[in-house]
Amino acid sequence: MNFNIENSINQRIILPANYNVELYIKREDTIHPFISGNKYRKLKYNLLEAKYQGHDTLVTFGGAFSNHIAAVAYAGKLYGFKTIGIIRGEELKAKVAENPTLRFAAENNMHFEFVTRAVYKEKTSVAFLKHLNTFFGNFYMVPEGGTNTLAVKGCEEILTKTDAKFNYVCTAVGTGGTIAGLINSAQPNQEILGFPALKGDFLKEDISKFATQNNWRLITDYHFGGYAKVNEALVTFINTFKTENNIPLDPVYTGKMLFGIFDLIKKGYFKKGSKILAIHTGGLQGINGMNTVLKKKQLPLIK
Ligand SMILES: *Cc1c(COP(=O)(O)O)cnc(C)c1O
Repeated sequence: MNFNIENSINQRIILPANYNVELYIKREDTIHPFISGNKYRKLKYNLLEAKYQGHDTLVTFGGAFSNHIAAVAYAGKLYGFKTIGIIRGEELKAKVAENPTLRFAAENNMHFEFVTRAVYKEKTSVAFLKHLNTFFGNFYMVPEGGTNTLAVKGCEEILTKTDAKFNYVCTAVGTGGTIAGLINSAQPNQEILGFPALKGDFLKEDISKFATQNNWRLITDYHFGGYAKVNEALVTFINTFKTENNIPLDPVYTGKMLFGIFDLIKKGYFKKGSKILAIHTGGLQGINGMNTVLKKKQLPLIK
């Protein structure tokens, strides 16, 4: 199994001189056209382990617009695994054709099990996993969002030696696996800032389980009301950012993080002369799905 992931480039963002900082974007969105950014990093050592253990089937979990579901479907096909996606929401069964993420996963041979939200909550219980075993035999379980020790190990490979010059490294946070990898491979004098895409205090604890350093903090002011919640200001920001820098951002994670970084720069949060590296963790496959939601709400679409 060839799992060489090439280093992505750091693209400089031109800022007004009075911002007094330098900002670079690490283009992890470009490491693979379909297995987006950090999901590829998180899958790398998990798929190697699954092969090593002799598994031919991957089971994983996710919601209707999950970047992880799309990534596992494509990676499974690429590396020769059957894939099974346990999807939150029975009502989605009838909507696969109109949901860009699920349609993509289905086209890449993922088999779905749609479950109620109540069952989904119990998805890692012994009883439910036994139930899956009777249907699908032995399988390798990739956790929701892909986060486990092997995923963190993969994310430790995002930063390179030359990234040591940055004072701050910023990333969007979902389950915390990505930031944990960044924390572990960062220099002790670098500060890692996480921008959670969702509300909740559980993240700090989850990250601490995997993190080996204390040089990090969460900036919790830019979740826009919760996971996958967006407003017009965010959409406008994403569209302007793309026009000015030719870099697309996703509405769930990287758009919120960069909105936050720009706001913090304007508020003088970063020391004068700081070099900031923001990780573009990918997630661009989610734009189409979000646009169907925005259209229904008669809000502007992401370009
Ligand atoms: C999944 C995802 C994240 C969150 O990563 P975690 O490791 O779960 O914190 C961030 N950005 C994008 C684009 C993602 O798809």
